Amino acid sequence: MGTITSRETSSPEETEALGEELGRRLRPGDLVLLTGELGAGKTTFVRGVARGCGSTMPVASPTFQLARVYSGRLQLAHVDLYRIESDVEVRDLGLEELLENGAVIVEWGERLDDPRAARIEFDSLGEDRRRITVVRDLPN
Ligand code: ADP
Ligand code: MG
Repeated sequence: MGTITSRETSSPEETEALGEELGRRLRPGDLVLLTGELGAGKTTFVRGVARGCGSTMPVASPTFQLARVYSGRLQLAHVDLYRIESDVEVRDLGLEELLENGAVIVEWGERLDDPRAARIEFDSLGEDRRRITVVRDLPN
């Protein structure tokens, strides 16, 4: 079993800062799955990840398109599987090209099964407190 690291935040800004740390470490081909309930802080975290990738583009959950792409030092594709009901694979979603061109981060990542993916779990601890757990780290 890999190491499991867990952190608690008490504001959206702190969650964004953790995301920014991750964003600075990302490389092309990295796939990161985010899991956790609505309002747990996944999109807030992605906002920081995009900044860490060197993007200044506004971050919002993709609704009508599968992925939003933020350009920066490293391209970051932001996928949200909220509307996907069954398990899907990278191939079903056509994510290979996005992975060739940068990193991919996926909200509702429990719906995507991929052994290469890092996995981060978000839990609401009430009010503004959230627990953020790296269940599986990036390979690098
Ligand atoms: P998700 O994408 O998981 O549905 P969002 O990031 O869209 O969640 O929403 C999280 C909500 O919780 C936002 O309204 C945010 O301001 C609020 N919030 C309060 N405390 C935190 C925290 N510590 N971390 C992240 N979001 C927080
Ligand atoms: Mg979201």
